[in-house]
Amino acid sequence: MAKTEKAKAKSKSIITDKAFQFLKNYINNPSPTGFESGGQKLWLEYLKPYTDSQFTDPYGSAVGVINPSSPFKVVIEAHADEISWFVNYISNEGLIYLKRNGGVDHQIAPAKRVVIHGKKGPVKAVFGWPAIHTRMASVDSKEPQPRVDNLFLDCGARNKKEVDALGIHVGSVATYEEGFDELAHDYYIGRAFDNRIGGFMIAEVARLLAENKKKLSYGLYIVNAVQEEIGLRGAEMIARRIKPDIAIITDVTHDTTTPMVNKIIEGDVACGKGPSLAYGPAVHNKLLTLVQETAEKHKIPVQLRAVSRSTGTDTESFAYANDGCPSVLISIPLRYMHTTVEMLHRKDIEDTIKLMYETVLTLSPKTKLSYF
Ligand SMILES: [Zn+2]
Repeated sequence: MAKTEKAKAKSKSIITDKAFQFLKNYINNPSPTGFESGGQKLWLEYLKPYTDSQFTDPYGSAVGVINPSSPFKVVIEAHADEISWFVNYISNEGLIYLKRNGGVDHQIAPAKRVVIHGKKGPVKAVFGWPAIHTRMASVDSKEPQPRVDNLFLDCGARNKKEVDALGIHVGSVATYEEGFDELAHDYYIGRAFDNRIGGFMIAEVARLLAENKKKLSYGLYIVNAVQEEIGLRGAEMIARRIKPDIAIITDVTHDTTTPMVNKIIEGDVACGKGPSLAYGPAVHNKLLTLVQETAEKHKIPVQLRAVSRSTGTDTESFAYANDGCPSVLISIPLRYMHTTVEMLHRKDIEDTIKLMYETVLTLSPKTKLSYF
């Protein structure tokens, strides 16, 4: 595309330059499970002009509210936390052994650069791994495979005392260093788009409502929940606090078109083809139909999938935390989940924002969701 044409195409996008800048900062800022407050502060600050009020809960879930006095409450939700590692044991040689904090992937760890978040601030380290020359073949001549109990961090310290002096302690968390980048054809890569892309998208819904001067007949709660990666816990807490009437959850889902993914098991979802809507017991059928009709009306492409028992997202927390809250899951397709090169397409970001935005505009306290 020629430069002028490219500029024109970008200016038509619903993602403004300011929004895009926020997205990059937000993705590059570590937000490990249990230690999300730095990212939450960034998010709340960005969201502030588009909401009437804001609050946080004891564990750090953050909420922006439009029409806080309305009795009818709708939630749009994403999770704020990213998978990371916990420092678990420091050897006499100054090497640091770890535990998982969420489903962080041991297979991608060797030779990765990390930041350890210690008491004296961030400390750089690397996942050391034996050289190809020196890996000693075992009896069955298999090369060592990365496992949680053989992976270690090397931060330059050569004994435990030197590690301590850097402010690193048992319980410090470590996050991978790689951040946001752009590939050709409008693909983005980054660490933990799962699910900070969701936090970005729900904030964009609020921004579009404010900038387009839309009035809602109910209270809209824009919720960025903590601690999803270890069992949907933050959503559980905040769902009980808000007690919403309707919840729209957004998270990532697998693009199943890359090698070594079985479509017969995982279904058929691809980046660039629009948000994915899930069928599953926690997903309310009438609300899902409403979302599908909204997508059709506004010519937003969607892809369908089915889940067995659970979506594995905060949808369950909202559906089941109180006395039954109609909930729906709008997912964005993503390649290479839980690696440092999670990949998604700009058009899916735009279409997911649009679908949530139009759905929010369709809802009212009179929306009938009864099955009977
Ligand atoms: Zn995840």
